Amino acid sequence: MHVRRKLVVGNWKMNGSLAQLSELSAIAAAARKAQGADVAICPPFTLIAPARARAAGLPIGGQDCHGKESGAHTGSISAAMLKEVGARLVIVGHSERRAEQGESDQIVRGKAEAALRAGLQAIVCVGESEAERERGEALNVVGAQLQGSLPQTAEGEGELVIAYEPIWAIGTGKVATPEDVAQMHAAIRTELNQLLGHRGATVRILYGGSVKADNAAALFAVEDVDGALVGGASLTAADFVPIIEAAARG
Ligand code: PEP
Repeated sequence: MHVRRKLVVGNWKMNGSLAQLSELSAIAAAARKAQGADVAICPPFTLIAPARARAAGLPIGGQDCHGKESGAHTGSISAAMLKEVGARLVIVGHSERRAEQGESDQIVRGKAEAALRAGLQAIVCVGESEAERERGEALNVVGAQLQGSLPQTAEGEGELVIAYEPIWAIGTGKVATPEDVAQMHAAIRTELNQLLGHRGATVRILYGGSVKADNAAALFAVEDVDGALVGGASLTAADFVPIIEAAARG
């Protein structure tokens, strides 16, 4: 059986400031202590370079990248540009971008492939809406997203990671039950094995959606939950460090 280290990634979304980078010292210290887990923070693009300077050793990433390397794409950032300023990872296909920017599976796939080519860890987000879950379509929706969004080539040095984030659980305080998470993560693992062959077992599957200090340990205990993508609770060390500690305990 392939052993996967837990990975906890903070997604600051469009939050944060130079002043807020003071939170990173305590987060970096907890990450250093967390021998059994990997930790990273994805602040807004403008804070990537200063965050690296503030938190030596803590991997810093972007929240999106373009699928092309350069060109006439006003307002966009390429994976190579992220890499140049020291980013180690990038989130692609977050449901907020799929909804607000109309990103299709095909666009997300292009971004994931660009990230891997640039040598970044690519965190590909998938997840169903509340209406889709109520109609009993969650497994099918996520399966289709994986088939449409995952890189088609293994080209590049980067590592592929999946984040399962039920849309109705993001920023709402509602958390999927451990049973629902177990069922979905097992289905994602099966899909990964089918799509990627033996590489499927090496891909970490994170859960995201209102992960907090008081529910993290129960989620991390679920089979095939290899960590978490954390929004609101990653903004301060007080909220994020206990989640890192829960991941380190396994
Ligand atoms: C997210 O930003 O991906 C997320 C899961 O947010 P929250 O933890 O705030 O629900």
